[in-house]
Amino acid sequence: MPNTERLIKEMMKMKTSPFCAYLYDVKGMEEHARNLAASLPEKVNLYYAMKANPDPVLLQTLNKHVDGFEAASLGELDKLSAYPDHRKVISGPAKTDDFLKAAIGREIRMIHAESIWEAERIDHIARMMGKKVGIALRINLEKAIGKARLTMAGKPTQFGISESELPAAMEVIKQLPFIEVSGFHFHSVSNNLDAEAHLSFAAQCVERAKHWELLYHLQIDYVNFGGGIGIDYEQTDAPFNWELFAEKLPSITDTAPDRWELVFELGRYLAGPFGFYAAEVMDVKENHGQAFAAVRGGTHHLRLPAAWKMSHPFEIVEIEEWPYPLRRPELKGKEIWITGELCTPNDVLVRGMPCSRIRVGDIVLFHQAGAYAWTISHHDFLSHGKPEMIYM
Ligand SMILES: *Cc1c(COP(=O)(O)O)cnc(C)c1O
Repeated sequence: MPNTERLIKEMMKMKTSPFCAYLYDVKGMEEHARNLAASLPEKVNLYYAMKANPDPVLLQTLNKHVDGFEAASLGELDKLSAYPDHRKVISGPAKTDDFLKAAIGREIRMIHAESIWEAERIDHIARMMGKKVGIALRINLEKAIGKARLTMAGKPTQFGISESELPAAMEVIKQLPFIEVSGFHFHSVSNNLDAEAHLSFAAQCVERAKHWELLYHLQIDYVNFGGGIGIDYEQTDAPFNWELFAEKLPSITDTAPDRWELVFELGRYLAGPFGFYAAEVMDVKENHGQAFAAVRGGTHHLRLPAAWKMSHPFEIVEIEEWPYPLRRPELKGKEIWITGELCTPNDVLVRGMPCSRIRVGDIVLFHQAGAYAWTISHHDFLSHGKPEMIYM
């Protein structure tokens, strides 16, 4: 972190226009991925769900420590052609024939089928390509995980086959000669901070998969728990307890047959903490008694706090240089709303957080901006300049 601040201060001296950049702590990310991979039991593999951040520099960094990648479109799968030796799996609720053909043709590790019709379509394409393929059925479980931000199980969603429909689905799928059910996929949650809840979810997945393997006379070799391990954006001091999770996980995974590959395909938890978004303060003011700081940038670069209606974690980097022969506007001891350069009241990054001082020309440094940040944002709205991308 001190590095990030020092770097920003140096860059501020050379800038020719207001500062706006994404900064990636590439080294930190690499170390984190290495530690996570090393702490998992032998039969558990770590994949990266690249939709969290498909930046090629980050893919190149993570590829050294993950066993595989999860892609959710043909575009993502194409980006993975740089990693021929890694395992690849695909997901997505509306896969095109081209995407499925590419997956079958490239003999990827696993296709996650999201519906009965998709299974039928995979069988049809596999037949035309003269290949038999193993698929994993994505199941929407009856029971959801605790109280995470976005849940995709235990309630209706567009993802997977609901658990109660599995018997009917298996009757159809068992008749399809060019596919074989070789596994199950259970991605069910996003931004879960409760390690105990994640453990009981994993136990439920293993138990269900074992049950179905027997019941439907399958020979499976793959169970994917999905991603969904979260980041404590709201700084409640209750981050996901990875140590506890890694310590207790073997008691669950040891109950799975050794021939199964068990997978966590993490996105947010691998990439989120290592991205920073820095934006220069252009104006400060009070309006109807509320304190605002408007930055060069905004939710068209970092949409996450607008999408979740939350305050994104930030700090102020104080910049001493002041180029104008004019007074320097500032706000002191206010609950600050940090907003962007867009002409819409929805362009809000921070909603009334305490701030001891903020001045025009300071930098707001947003933390936890490595996942679901730049690529989920509407860059072209208002045609403002894009941020620089800086790799540390
Ligand atoms: C988005 C997604 C992930 C990654 O989720 P995170 O919450 O970022 O860990 C994993 N698997 C599937 C199928 C996904 O759609």
